[in-house]
Amino acid sequence: MRTEARRTPTHPLPAVCEAVNPARLLDTAVRLIARPSPTGAAGAVADELAAILTADGFAVERPVAGHPAAPAVVARLSSGRPGRTLQFNAHLDTVHLPFAPPQVVGDRLTGSGAADMKGGLAAAVEAMRAVRDAGGLAAGDLLLTAHDLHESPWGDGSQLDALIAAGHVGRAVLLPEYFNAALPVVGRGGFTWAATVRRPGPPVHEVYRPDEPSVIAVGAELVTRLGRLDAELARSNDPLAGAASAFVGTVQSGSIYNEFPQTCRLEGTRRWLPGTRFADADREFRGLCATLAAETGAAIEVETRLMRDAFRLDTADPFVGVFQSAYAGLVGERLPIGGKPFVDDGNSFWSSAGIPAITHGPTAGGAHTTAEWVNTDDLVRVARLYALVATMYCPFGGDS
Ligand SMILES: [Zn+2]
Repeated sequence: MRTEARRTPTHPLPAVCEAVNPARLLDTAVRLIARPSPTGAAGAVADELAAILTADGFAVERPVAGHPAAPAVVARLSSGRPGRTLQFNAHLDTVHLPFAPPQVVGDRLTGSGAADMKGGLAAAVEAMRAVRDAGGLAAGDLLLTAHDLHESPWGDGSQLDALIAAGHVGRAVLLPEYFNAALPVVGRGGFTWAATVRRPGPPVHEVYRPDEPSVIAVGAELVTRLGRLDAELARSNDPLAGAASAFVGTVQSGSIYNEFPQTCRLEGTRRWLPGTRFADADREFRGLCATLAAETGAAIEVETRLMRDAFRLDTADPFVGVFQSAYAGLVGERLPIGGKPFVDDGNSFWSSAGIPAITHGPTAGGAHTTAEWVNTDDLVRVARLYALVATMYCPFGGDS
């Protein structure tokens, strides 16, 4: 993390940044973390967020967005004058691990979702309050959206997809995930896959082996062909995002050395760069398996599960310039350009709606463990940055 960039600004903070209230921010984060919200069951924290925003005086909507167990939360701050709409988007769900309640020790807030991503969400909420309190929105709108069904494998991103499809989108979006080492401008898309190779007959001692394909040999051939595909894909390599790939993570077959097995199951991932779509990669993968099945006489059943499609940020978009100016204004220098090492909801905004998305959140750690933490000073920095981006970005354009 770029701790060296956390310099105190040499000039007074803009009013909208001064309006960020660290105690109010922290209280919101603690209240959100206190509501357990494993993926699929984020209803209580969604209700809590809606209550917080309503008490703050914001107009709150609760679109079901395909997930009645936890309707999404949509809040808006409107200037009443035409301008751009800037969106803050966060997921409310956490990975399925034992619940850890919120706790503040020194400059660390810990607890389930502290890093991923209730701390960041609280910073976005505080930014919206600060913009309102400082009268920082000369024109345009701020839109806050929060949803469930983010974390794999329990969630599939479908609630956000439904929100986007229903038009709950801005002209640009900020996502306060726990990443701030670079400005991510490109990221790979990916799916997980499972292939089950079968022969028709029952389990049998190998000396009575019928004239059927060996599922292990077919599985091995699939590994070989995917290795060849991986080598081919490695030629499309982005310096920031890495290479497209086909990866085998598990192979399972057989129960004893002399039984002729019936199934061989393989699992892995397939990743691709912008320019390829999920449907293309999916079709290619299924085609490869179908060819192997036809050649060997084995049946191969294929399941694929989209993580997210690939991501690109157009650095010529005015949103990027505004973000970099605001960032430089607060910390003294621009953020270096980098790749996005993971898939997140920014990929969905870009791939399904063409909306420029910047993932930038607090310094934090322990995501996807029971020891999550977020730096509380950095939450304040994120809130100030989001507020400043809003005041600089929304008043212009008038295009949406
Ligand atoms: Zn997250």
